[in-house]
Amino acid sequence: MDTGLKGKLVIITGGARGLGYASATKFALEGAEIVLADINEEMVKESAAKLHEETGAVCHAYRLDVSRVDEIKAFFAKIKADFGRVDILINNAGIQIRNDCLDFKEEDWDKLMDINLKGVFFCCQQGGLIMKDNGGGVIVNMSSSTAVRTTPGRAPYCISKAGVKNLTMVLSCEFAKYHIRMNAVAPGWIMTNMLQDGFRLGVVSDKQLMAAIPYKRYADMSEIADTVVYLCSDQASYITGQTIGLDGGIWATQTPTAAWKL
Ligand code: NAD
Repeated sequence: MDTGLKGKLVIITGGARGLGYASATKFALEGAEIVLADINEEMVKESAAKLHEETGAVCHAYRLDVSRVDEIKAFFAKIKADFGRVDILINNAGIQIRNDCLDFKEEDWDKLMDINLKGVFFCCQQGGLIMKDNGGGVIVNMSSSTAVRTTPGRAPYCISKAGVKNLTMVLSCEFAKYHIRMNAVAPGWIMTNMLQDGFRLGVVSDKQLMAAIPYKRYADMSEIADTVVYLCSDQASYITGQTIGLDGGIWATQTPTAAWKL
């Protein structure tokens, strides 16, 4: 099947590792040209080189801190100068900071919101301006199952991801007249660095998580990446404004599976 992705310029924020890198790999295998943009300059350079080695695709590395609007503007200006276009933008960069509301520090709130929500909004703005001038494009934002089924002890994260879901609806309507589609994916639990940190800190356990997932396993990164790529393909040409839950059924139930037999 021709996905229409061959030769497309795909920008992935937070693309140096984890879900961003997994999505980059799938786009690269479809013949797209990849721009990995990440706050970790050394890692993003290594990742772009590795991706090229693994897939043969043309891969570029840029340093970008999505929490800084001045950096976002400078980054997209450079992309416009270097390539003249943005076909696909994946707003993937995100962080987790865990703490109860009563102990949460203002600087942690600002840091998380600036990356997870403000960064997504302004990347949509700056990427969208280039797409508008070029007659269209596709954007996918990284939300989370916690946008709907919240987890105590990480309120700002859940709020930021609900914001991304809402942002995706409203901006998809604003951008439709420019032929820009915008969707989000909302993964459940995946064994990336983010979740491993949670295990290390002892704030989540395997037993606890399995009780909340009807499908009784974690997602594989490639399962998330497949949907990201699909949403950007010609096969998804009439899908916009949606947030697709990729969560093994977490959104489908109000009760953890452990309670089903009570
Ligand atoms: P990860 O920590 O492995 O990767 C995140 C990447 O973002 C890293 O390369 C990091 O350097 C980069 N980054 C961090 N701050 C940045 C900034 N200010 N500017 C640019 N880049 C920055 O995490 P992941 O699990 O791959 O998560 C990717 C996205 O998926 C995040 O938005 C996360 O919230 C979301 N998500 C993850 C899970 C999960 O279980 N892992 C579930 C749902 C949603």
